[in-house]
Amino acid sequence: MSNIVIDIDNVSFNYGMIPVLKDISLKIHEDEFIGIIGPNGSGKSTLLKLILGLLKPDKGVIKKYNQKCQHKRHHIGYVPQHVNFARDFPVTVEEVVMMGHITTSSLFFKFNKDEVSSAMRAMQTLEIEDIAKRQIGSLSGGQLQRVLIARALVCQPNILILDEPTSNVDVRVEEDIFALLKNFSEHMTIIVVSHDIAFISGYVDRVACLNLTMVCHDTESISGKMIEELYGTPVKMIHHHH
Ligand code: ADP
Ligand code: MG
Repeated sequence: MSNIVIDIDNVSFNYGMIPVLKDISLKIHEDEFIGIIGPNGSGKSTLLKLILGLLKPDKGVIKKYNQKCQHKRHHIGYVPQHVNFARDFPVTVEEVVMMGHITTSSLFFKFNKDEVSSAMRAMQTLEIEDIAKRQIGSLSGGQLQRVLIARALVCQPNILILDEPTSNVDVRVEEDIFALLKNFSEHMTIIVVSHDIAFISGYVDRVACLNLTMVCHDTESISGKMIEELYGTPVKMIHHHH
């Protein structure tokens, strides 16, 4: 068994009086590609924020291990569900990608050579070099998602967390992005939130089904009945061939 990178141990979380997560335990391994699914409001984004340390559990602990790069403080890349910058803000693709460095060292938009070259590499990986000078407001939904993924990659994380990265794109773009993530997962832990279990089960190694509590499944064992129990309504299974 490979190394554990995130160990969620018996975690509960409430917003005020409202319980959102109850007794959640999950061990995520190095280079695993894991999907977190569940209905709207089931606490998926909350769980990611707990993993990121943006929220603190009311009960239980989340331990993070960083075997690959001890020297790095920020080893998690994050693509949030709702990106809060105004689309009409006059900023270019490459500037947005460079913002991925701001949490680590740079102040006042001054970047060193290494930071510039890692941003170039991230743009190449996401195939967005040709739109580097475009204004962010002129991009399609799929292009914008690629920019946000590139931004999350510039700090060279060993864990990449994405919150519904394909909720605003069409199926073809969704397939492109997941194929890319699948490649990344050869040398990176990928945690992706989705509400589309049928789609993601074609890519991920394992799905964690969240609905106040959590149940984990290997991708092969997913059945229509299981989805029905989770969502309370029948969901048709779709098989993917890659
Ligand atoms: P999901 O991502 O699965 O849709 P969330 O984690 O965003 O779910 O939200 C889980 C529940 O917590 C929802 O009922 C939501 O309304 C509530 N919630 C989310 N954020 C807050 C907040 N900042 N304050 C109070 N309640 C919240
Ligand atoms: Mg959410």
